[in-house]
Amino acid sequence: MAEVFDVIVLGTGGFGSGAAYHLARRGLRVLGLDRFGPAHDRGSSHGETRIIRKAYFEHPDYVPLLLQAYDLWADLEAESQQQLFWKCGLMLAGLPDSEAISGARLSASQHGLNIENLTASAATNRWPGFQVPDAFDAVFEPDAGFLKVEDCVRTHLDRATAHGATLLFDEPVVSWSSTGREVRVRTTTREFVAASLVITAGSWAASVLADLKLPLQILRKPVFWFETTSPAYNLGASMPTFYFEMPPTGAWTFYGFPSLDGRVLKVAQHSGGEIVADPLLVDRELHDADVRPIANFLRTCLPGVRPQPARHSTCLYTVTPDRHFIVDRHPEFPNVVIGCGFSGHGFKFTSVLGSAFADLATSGHTDLPIHFLSLKRLSG
Ligand SMILES: Cc1cc2nc3c(=O)[nH]c(=O)nc-3n(C[C@H](O)[C@H](O)[C@H](O)COP(=O)(O)OP(=O)(O)OC[C@H]3O[C@@H](n4cnc5c(N)ncnc54)[C@H](O)[C@@H]3O)c2cc1C
Repeated sequence: MAEVFDVIVLGTGGFGSGAAYHLARRGLRVLGLDRFGPAHDRGSSHGETRIIRKAYFEHPDYVPLLLQAYDLWADLEAESQQQLFWKCGLMLAGLPDSEAISGARLSASQHGLNIENLTASAATNRWPGFQVPDAFDAVFEPDAGFLKVEDCVRTHLDRATAHGATLLFDEPVVSWSSTGREVRVRTTTREFVAASLVITAGSWAASVLADLKLPLQILRKPVFWFETTSPAYNLGASMPTFYFEMPPTGAWTFYGFPSLDGRVLKVAQHSGGEIVADPLLVDRELHDADVRPIANFLRTCLPGVRPQPARHSTCLYTVTPDRHFIVDRHPEFPNVVIGCGFSGHGFKFTSVLGSAFADLATSGHTDLPIHFLSLKRLSG
């Protein structure tokens, strides 16, 4: 006999952990299934840190969600008695008309957010670890900072369990079906039944939802930790997280974090990335071509950092054609909820969209402003 739940969450990484937590907190019988262990390093939610910010340069429509995301991260910290968010600020640097600078200014002015505008020399004087190119502007957002990514996933999962969720790891889902009122989910070992299903399968979304032929591309994204002996890069020295958009616009973007241990800091390239056919077979070796652009960037803009990586990790972006997320119900099965295509900037939303997935799975509707993330926009 198949075991019965109210909601099954397929994939308990970044978004699935958030969904399982919000569903369980509402008193539902929740089953979370994952092919790997909790907070693993095979998908998109690992590597120590993620930037969180409000002056969203990708689009002002994300800002109302971000305001709620911040509140929900604070609630989770209070409930778990654990620090997940470090408010060290974010410095954006780029040409005045770059996407990052102009987009952050637009979101800040539309939503009354607190940002500071700085010249290149003012930014370099304020944070001596940076060498901001003369032609650049800088925008500092004091409310931004970073989340500890694995701690966030683990905390969502731990609190989901504390609220009664059943979580099964090393349990790959091989198929699912829906009648529109009931779902059946089959793993390699057994079958489960529920009223609804949330599919948050990250880089596996296109194969789990093969019938929808989702236009998703998986990108290989190495991230690096570089050594420094300069205290200017330390979290304790007011070093913010940072994002540089090098000209031509959008072609070369790099981001990073203050040093958490006074020895190494994490820096990576947001732009580029090789297309991956099968996320299970991604190349996790490091190649010269991975390091060259970021080493050039460090020599130009963070000259006190040794440009040879001390260590690296490989992560996956799952990108949509417009780089905006897919958060919707399945077009054929209203009791199946889909969250995917987070395009390399989703993690900060796992709190608030976890809540949106819980709304959609239980009532088919959410008051959260997610209409701009519909699947329909991509079929147009
Ligand atoms: C290098 C890098 C840097 C980033 N930086 C930022 C940042 O600074 N700020 C930010 O907000 N975002 C950032 N992101 C984006 C963010 O991390 C991702 O958008 C987010 O983590 C994606 O979460 P997910 O739940 O979609 O995927 P995952 O966390 O990978 O979860 C998907 C889960 O589904 C499971 N699964 C898949 N198929 C099956 C199956 N058949 N059966 C069972 N389980 C299955 C997988 O095992 C996995 O655990 C970054 C991403 C990367 C890679």
